[in-house]
Amino acid sequence: MARREGMVRLPVCLGLFLFGGCGGSAAAPASVVTGEAPAVHYSIAVDAELRTLSATVCPRDLRLARLRVTRPEDASRVQRPRVVRAAGEVPLEIEQDAVPISSDTDGACIGYDVDLGPPREGFWLAHGGGHVLASPDVWLLAPEPRPAGTRVTASFTLPAGVRVAVPWPEDSRGHRIPETAFTMRGAGAFGALGREALSVGGAALDVVSLGDGFGERAPLVTRWLERSAAALTQLHDDFPVPRVMVLLLPQPGDDVGFGMALRGGGPTVMLMVGSSVSTEALDKDWTAVHELFHLSAPRFHPRDAWLSEGLATYYTDILMGRARMLDEKSAWDDLRDGFQRGNRRGTGRTLRQESLDMHETYAYWRVYWAGAAIALLADVELRKRGVDGGLDAPLRELARCCAQSKEAWSAERFAEFVDERTGQAVMKPLVARYAGSADFPDTAEVLAALGVRGAGRDMTLVEDAPRAGVRKAMMAPRKR
Ligand SMILES: [Zn+2]
Repeated sequence: MARREGMVRLPVCLGLFLFGGCGGSAAAPASVVTGEAPAVHYSIAVDAELRTLSATVCPRDLRLARLRVTRPEDASRVQRPRVVRAAGEVPLEIEQDAVPISSDTDGACIGYDVDLGPPREGFWLAHGGGHVLASPDVWLLAPEPRPAGTRVTASFTLPAGVRVAVPWPEDSRGHRIPETAFTMRGAGAFGALGREALSVGGAALDVVSLGDGFGERAPLVTRWLERSAAALTQLHDDFPVPRVMVLLLPQPGDDVGFGMALRGGGPTVMLMVGSSVSTEALDKDWTAVHELFHLSAPRFHPRDAWLSEGLATYYTDILMGRARMLDEKSAWDDLRDGFQRGNRRGTGRTLRQESLDMHETYAYWRVYWAGAAIALLADVELRKRGVDGGLDAPLRELARCCAQSKEAWSAERFAEFVDERTGQAVMKPLVARYAGSADFPDTAEVLAALGVRGAGRDMTLVEDAPRAGVRKAMMAPRKR
C-alpha cells in the first residue's frame, strides 16, 4: 500500500559535529582530535532561487589535501573556495579540477559555493518551475585523501518550501554520504518536490516528483511503480536493494519516456513520464521494470554493456509475463520481435565494440537484444540440462552478493559466476562465442523448440512443442 509522507521538513542543520555550522557562511574552529575514525561533514545550503549552493566541509581527525570536482567540466561552477575559521575566512584557489588545501589550515573547515545557474538541459543540471535537477556530481566536491572507513555525512539548510532529494541513506541525525557518491554518477534535486514513500518487497522506494507532478493521475503513477517494483519479486525473494530513490521527471505528453538507473550515492532510477500519462501507457510500459532490474545486477564494464542491457531486456519480458503485466503470448512475441529487430540493426562491429560505440552509433537495438538473445540461450540450455529455474538462482545470488559491488564486472566474471553456481559450462562458451563476434545469436532453433511460432497476431504458442514445458515454466508466476 502506498502512503503519503507527511509535510515534514527534512532535517535542517543538525550540526553533527560540535563545530559543524549551518550553511555556507558558518564559522568553525579548527578540528579536534577525538581518536575516533576520520570523518567529514558537509553543511549544505541553497538559496531560495536555487541558483547558488553553499557547502562547508569540516574534517575530523583527518587532514584534507584537496577537494576535487567530480565532473571536470563543472569546475568553473565552483566559486569562492575558502578556509572558514572563527576569526574569519581566508580565500583559496581553484587549480584545474581541485581546490588544494595547504597543511597550515590545520584541519579547519573549507567552504565553497557552486553556481547552479544558468539553466541547462540534461539530467545532471536542469532548471524547471520551482525546482532544479542537480546531480551531486555537479556540486559535491570529493574530500581527498579519504582513508577507508572515513565517515562522510551531510546536513541541509533549506529555504521554506524547498526540499532536497538525494539517494544517500538518512537517519534522524542526517544523511550519510556513501563512497559511491564520489565514484559513480548519481542524481539529485532541490525545490518544491512531490514526495511519496512506498514499500515494495521489503524495500523503501523514495518517490520524488519534480515540477507540478501528475495531479489526479498521481495514484495511477504510484500503482504503476508499485507493480513494476513488485515484478522484481518474480525473480528475487525481496526487492534486490533495501532503498531506491525514484526520480520522476514529468514531461509534456501522455507516454512514459526515457529511463536511467544510477548507482552513485545509492540506487536510483530516473524516469521521464508524461504529465498527462494515460492508463494504457502505464499498463504497457516496460521502462520501470527494466531500470529497476538494473539495480539487481552489478555494474559492468562499458564493453560488456550488452550483458547488463541484455539481462535487463530479457528479464523485463520474463518478469512482466510472470507478474501477468503481459500475457504469455505477448511476452514471447515481444522477445521474438526484439531478436528480429536486433538482428537487422547494427553496424557490423563485434558485440563488444558495438557496446562501446552505441552512444555514437545508436546501435542500441543490436546491443540490447543480442544480450537478451544470449540470456535466452543460456536460460533455456540450463533448464534443458535440468537446472531448475535456469538463470534465476544464479541471478538471485548475484543480487545478494554483488548488486552494489563497487567494481565493474566483466562478462567473463559473470559467466564464471553462473557456471560455477549451476555446475554447467553454459555461459562461458556463449560469452566466448559472441562477445567478440559480429554474429547475432541465433534464437530461431530455441524459439521453435519452445513452441513460439509465427509473429504478431499470427503468433501461436505450440502446446506439443518439444520444450513447451520449459517455455511455460519460464513465464509461470513464481511459487514461494
Ligand atoms: Zn538498461
